[in-house]
Amino acid sequence: MRLVFILGDQLTRGISSLDGIDPARDVVLMVEVAAEATYVRHHKQKLVLILSAMRHFAEELRAEGIAVDYVRLEDPGNAQDFTGELARAVARHRPEAVVVTHPGEWRVLQLMRGWAEGIGVPVEIREDDRFLCPPAEFARLTAAGKTGRMEYFYREMRRRTGLLMEGAKPLGGKWNFDAENRKALPRGHQGPQRKRFAPDAMTEEVAALVEARFPDHFGRLDRFGWPVTRAEALAALDDFLRVGLPSFGDWQDAMQTGEDFLYHALIAPALNIGLLTAPEVAAAAEAEYHAGRAPLNAVEGFIRQVIGWREFVRGLYWTEMPGYAETNALNATRPLPAFFWTGETAMRCLAEVIRGTRDNAYAHHIQRLMVTGNFALLAGIAPGQIEAWYLAVYADAFEWVELPNVHGMVAHADGGRLGSKPYAAAAAYIGRMSDYCRGCGFDAKARTGRKACPMNYLYWNFLITHQARFGKNPRMALPYKALAAMGEGERAAITAEAEAFFARMSAPEAPSGQLSLGW
Ligand SMILES: Cc1cc2nc3c(=O)[nH]c(=O)nc-3n(C[C@H](O)[C@H](O)[C@H](O)COP(=O)(O)OP(=O)(O)OC[C@H]3O[C@@H](n4cnc5c(N)ncnc54)[C@H](O)[C@@H]3O)c2cc1C
Ligand code: SF4
Repeated sequence: MRLVFILGDQLTRGISSLDGIDPARDVVLMVEVAAEATYVRHHKQKLVLILSAMRHFAEELRAEGIAVDYVRLEDPGNAQDFTGELARAVARHRPEAVVVTHPGEWRVLQLMRGWAEGIGVPVEIREDDRFLCPPAEFARLTAAGKTGRMEYFYREMRRRTGLLMEGAKPLGGKWNFDAENRKALPRGHQGPQRKRFAPDAMTEEVAALVEARFPDHFGRLDRFGWPVTRAEALAALDDFLRVGLPSFGDWQDAMQTGEDFLYHALIAPALNIGLLTAPEVAAAAEAEYHAGRAPLNAVEGFIRQVIGWREFVRGLYWTEMPGYAETNALNATRPLPAFFWTGETAMRCLAEVIRGTRDNAYAHHIQRLMVTGNFALLAGIAPGQIEAWYLAVYADAFEWVELPNVHGMVAHADGGRLGSKPYAAAAAYIGRMSDYCRGCGFDAKARTGRKACPMNYLYWNFLITHQARFGKNPRMALPYKALAAMGEGERAAITAEAEAFFARMSAPEAPSGQLSLGW
């Protein structure tokens, strides 16, 4: 008899640990444990998503005749951590072996590696074959020079999958249509009504449990609308293909006040817990192109995220951990300001993105990268503190995907392993891609002075501070040329504004980190 241990982000019927299961003898183990809910204080919606999806998945397995030993959070005797619960289950079932699929986090892999010895039963850790590129293959591919960068890795994935290919050539004659995907929304544009999923009785029960057990975790629950079953996840994918995908490319980078979802896929939470798989969503998007329902720039842009970025960050995580998380190339050490949790800041762009994050456990890529991420980079926030925030607040955040995006793409803490230049921007970028600056009390055009937008002086201060590292980077030649053209006086004023800002940001009496005008 084997005990098949399934984790909360492994809710895929085809998961490798279920391969060859014998329903007559084997038992599936699923456990809800407080240690996993609290090692960072996850957003309430994220907890509800995972626990409800686990309970639904267990019911689906039982309906197939598979025995599931399911331990609920509130069950008496629950050891409240993976190792303790596995030990209790081994004592109950006396299996010959435990079978698990490779986890999504280094920390959990270390636990798994200790189980066989600690519990006295052989533990088979199977590869997670829901991804296109196994870590060993990633290491081989990226060691071979060019594919070390995402763009070349992505081309290789296109060749291997045959997605959007015409023989050996990319469809449409180009690998990448990104240049067409940077449009700003027309003023007052209304995004489409997106499909959300009303909680059923099981989700309501979990929501009450989460509210009672974790009342002080970030986020509101009344706007929960994530798919929690495979059927709902397929409906979410279908909604994206019909309503989002045709315009996904055009408005991929655009942001607008009150428009929390726009044309984005909204599938990452379902993908990352296993209700959908990357190959199936990429194939579904390609089919929309061939059916003439979505343009190439949109379909290519989406497929690049799914088979390019998603696979690339996973490969990077598993080939570079555990050392990857320890690097801090820019020596960033400031603490995360409290307003990341309260949203109380006069900087309208940040307030709006944090508001959406609190309401939905969601923000789209550019909001994460160019608003909250950009601020954290420019303000020199310690990488570990930014990472813990991102890991907690997004429903789709699992360390294998969150860490490279935050540590590498946002904080540039890996010294350029992920991106050859930091994603730093001043207010002009945010003003171009959103309507945030229009209603903001700060002056998006001013670099210094009482009303100057902090993104501006922090941006130029960042360039000054890191001139030795980035001054000769050809991709940063333009901003450094502009910096060189500035007078000494302006440079000194920028440094002084930035220092005063940092002093206010870390002052203990700062009211929730509020940065109001004249304060
Ligand atoms: C600072 C930062 C942190 C991020 N943290 C996470 C995270 O914890 N979990 C996560 O899944 N994504 C993360 N991303 C990537 C991206 O923001 C989300 O995947 C996306 O916003 C999810 O929403 P969506 O399904 O509507 O995606 P869309 O914008 O519609 O994109 C489609 C799909 O592409 C994939 N994708 C897009 N960009 C990336 C990327 N950079 N890395 C990996 N996959 C990508 C996702 O699976 C996504 O569902 C992060 C990006 C940044 C800049
Ligand atoms: S002016 Fe500055 S702080 Fe205000 S919304 Fe624009 S970028 Fe953000």
